[in-house]
Amino acid sequence: MKPRVLKFGGSSVANAACMRQVAKVVRAALPASPLVVLSAMGKTTDALFRAGQAAVKGDLDLALTEAAGVFQRTREALRDLLGGQVPVTTAEQVAAMESELQLLLRGVALLRELTPRSMDAIASTGERLSTRVFAAHLEREGVPVTHLDAREVVRTDGAFGAAAPQQAVIKVLAAERVAPYLGAGRVVVTQGYVGATEDGTTTTLGRGGSDYSAALLGAALGADEIQIWTDVEGVLTADPRVVPAARPIKRLSFAEAAELAAFGAKVLHPATVQPAVEAGIPVTVRHTERPEGAFTTITAEAAATGKPITALASRGPITVLTVHSTRMLAQAGFLGRLFEVFGRLGVSVDLVATAENSVSLTVDARAPLGPLLAELRAFATIQVAEKRAIVAVVGERLRSTPRIGARVFGALEEVNVEMISMGSSEINLSLVVREEDAAPAVQRLHRAFMENGA
Ligand code: ADP
Ligand code: ASP
Ligand code: MG
Repeated sequence: MKPRVLKFGGSSVANAACMRQVAKVVRAALPASPLVVLSAMGKTTDALFRAGQAAVKGDLDLALTEAAGVFQRTREALRDLLGGQVPVTTAEQVAAMESELQLLLRGVALLRELTPRSMDAIASTGERLSTRVFAAHLEREGVPVTHLDAREVVRTDGAFGAAAPQQAVIKVLAAERVAPYLGAGRVVVTQGYVGATEDGTTTTLGRGGSDYSAALLGAALGADEIQIWTDVEGVLTADPRVVPAARPIKRLSFAEAAELAAFGAKVLHPATVQPAVEAGIPVTVRHTERPEGAFTTITAEAAATGKPITALASRGPITVLTVHSTRMLAQAGFLGRLFEVFGRLGVSVDLVATAENSVSLTVDARAPLGPLLAELRAFATIQVAEKRAIVAVVGERLRSTPRIGARVFGALEEVNVEMISMGSSEINLSLVVREEDAAPAVQRLHRAFMENGA
């Protein structure tokens, strides 16, 4: 029988009450052989990053205080869930992780060096704690449960901070170390976000990476469905913090979901859909507090909504570079030479728009511009526009909708659009605006295209 992956995000496991709700959802899924993938409790990962930053600045007291807060919240949840009877093994595991974290932070403070490798070891503590707490709770509830250390299965390369998974190896390890428990009717609880290299060194998949873990494990196990349980009723037509009227989307294609995630819809990690697409496994996004409520199903097929736009997203700050060739832009090899520099310096380009005698490109605001500009200026003049944002208009029906560009510009009214780019997939029309114009732009587009029977 195919197992099912259920991933619960940070807000879903923030405290004991939330974990009780998660246990309810997991119990309802028992007949489906659930593999449960958990994030760290609430904002634990943020606290662990703050602890690392404080330690490297030499403020060991602050670092240890942040760490103590994490363990206090963990023990509170344990006590609340298990009363005075926290299993000795769980208490010992938590104590061992506390000593380990303190040692790591002391080491960082002593050396005044926080490598991505150390930060991954520190950050992994959050998921390693939440899974212990939750597994102990399920066990007390009489559910047959096995706690699995993700580092035994989620094999990655050594790119600490954003490690790349090795899917073929993960498949073999999952068959050996996960499937037998699921087959025996046990619930397996493991960490999202965390992996390990071949020699067992702890890595992470990057912030928000628990969704990616769920997809990787689901693909490796041939799951029937990968469920992302969070604090919204699925993927909404826009970020609800920007557009309060955003509504849940019933069906989304993998391509639309990938574009939305890449252009700022935090609800899914950008890499999540790729393993699911390859394995042909549907991904659903659901609200932990309202398991009977609306949810989104993401599959290969586009939904027949009849609307040109499925959803909106925005991402910023970004920087726009406009390149004017000092020689003829059209000269053969110019674009090749340009992109070679970006590639070699590891700066990724999100959008490109070409004009008669210039090329505009967008890069993340955090990209190291110094060395890049120095090289480019050897053969081109460059204008730099900072504090911009990308507004992404996404929909499978964009390409078949006449005059969509004109309608989008009409809806934007006086918002000034500085650059436009239609993705090669033709399901993403991206606009670059000033950072402060991003929210009003999304709000106007939402009103024009997806509200009041639009
Ligand atoms: P989790 O902790 O469960 O991984 P996240 O905070 O990573 O949850 O993602 C869920 C949040 O993503 C929502 O609370 C919402 O604020 C935000 N979000 C941004 N864009 C969207 C969107 N289009 N649809 C749904 N949620 C979105
Ligand atoms: N806990 C990690 C983070 O906050 C991973 C995740 O929740 O997806 O980034
Ligand atoms: Mg998330």
